[in-house]
Amino acid sequence: MNAKRVDPRRPYRVGPNGLRRIVLGEIGIADISAGPGSLGAMARAKPLRTNVQPTGWYMAVAHAYRGRLDDHAREAIAAAAILAGPETGVIAVIFGAFHEDAAVAGADKVVVVDAVDAARFDPEREEFVIEALLEEFKPEHVFMPDNLLGDGDLGRRLIARQRASAATHVVELDGKHVAVGWSGGARMADQPLPRFVLLQPGAVDSSLPFLGAGEMLRAPEPDISTKRYRDLGLEPTESGAIALEEADFIVSAGNGVKNVATLEALAQSLGATVGASRVAVDDGKLPRSKQIGASGKTVSATTYFAIGISGAVQHLQGIKACRHVIAINRDAGAPIAKRADLTVIADAEDLMQALIARVAQARLQSEPETKA
Ligand SMILES: Cc1cc2nc3c(=O)[nH]c(=O)nc-3n(C[C@H](O)[C@H](O)[C@H](O)COP(=O)(O)OP(=O)(O)OC[C@H]3O[C@@H](n4cnc5c(N)ncnc54)[C@H](O)[C@@H]3O)c2cc1C
Repeated sequence: MNAKRVDPRRPYRVGPNGLRRIVLGEIGIADISAGPGSLGAMARAKPLRTNVQPTGWYMAVAHAYRGRLDDHAREAIAAAAILAGPETGVIAVIFGAFHEDAAVAGADKVVVVDAVDAARFDPEREEFVIEALLEEFKPEHVFMPDNLLGDGDLGRRLIARQRASAATHVVELDGKHVAVGWSGGARMADQPLPRFVLLQPGAVDSSLPFLGAGEMLRAPEPDISTKRYRDLGLEPTESGAIALEEADFIVSAGNGVKNVATLEALAQSLGATVGASRVAVDDGKLPRSKQIGASGKTVSATTYFAIGISGAVQHLQGIKACRHVIAINRDAGAPIAKRADLTVIADAEDLMQALIARVAQARLQSEPETKA
């Protein structure tokens, strides 16, 4: 089939000098007033996707985390915006507090439902909100990230309740079809573009050449009298108990780390999981189960601290999917600097000690607020 294959690589931006730049969360809000040259101003300089009054709608639904949409969620909105014709508007429904610019993500109308968030299990309220909006806007297609963080579950609930045509684990799509992996991913199966499209990460390039109108709408007020579910709360897991493959934040030791106790203290203070290079493991500093790389674990953390790690190809192979790589190395010419979004040229021990002290200080300062 002739499906649109969209570039899944976008964890960074390349600056004018060719260096990769880490992209922090506040895309396009605070920066809009910051004048020309800022990321927000650059994003805002793009043209509107359409100036035409919409006669129909595509919808995207996703949960925000800590006020942000992750790339996967942005891909769902981008899918709607890329496939929508000029007379079709894109409405984004975002669960949880949201502090970014949904116009940059491609949304023409935005409904932020901050009474519900991903940390609480409240499917009835979420279904109520979406179904009210489905009724009001009658979107032809609904795009959602197919993840384990709430969207995948909500998407399947909506599919079942609406008895609508649907495709999950979608890896490719165009205006008429979707393709999903089949036979263990060895083959692709395609089907006509259904009403509900649950997207795998990387199916769509979320960096759009245009903006949505970004108009904020009021969220429908859920009126739920009978509750079939009771949220018993989250059970926090010790960062050390999280498997490396599942960890979102990894602090990793290489040969340049002389004192593993300091690294472990840093990981604990940041709530990160400890990883290691092969040399650090071969030296007996950390167990084999902590090795990351070609002959160790493959990780996909949002943030990866490579401390005293040179960045040999075998190590880089294991961190390909990490979003933000921050290197700490004495040598500015170490290969890790080419992969890293940010490289701090410093002695590992000094920098780790300084970071631990800063984290402790920040905690102390935020404590009175927490108690208030
Ligand atoms: C078949 C095969 C499979 C392999 N599999 C893996 C694998 O799975 N994982 C893996 O990691 N490697 C693997 N390797 C090994 C890999 O080639 C490298 O040898 C290894 O990754 C290097 O580890 P390192 O960067 O910690 O050490 P080094 O190469 O010794 O680099 C240490 C780095 O720390 C910096 N440094 C030194 N002192 C300090 C200080 N005080 N402060 C700050 N920075 C400092 C140095 O500038 C240097 O960049 C494999 C190799 C082979 C051949």
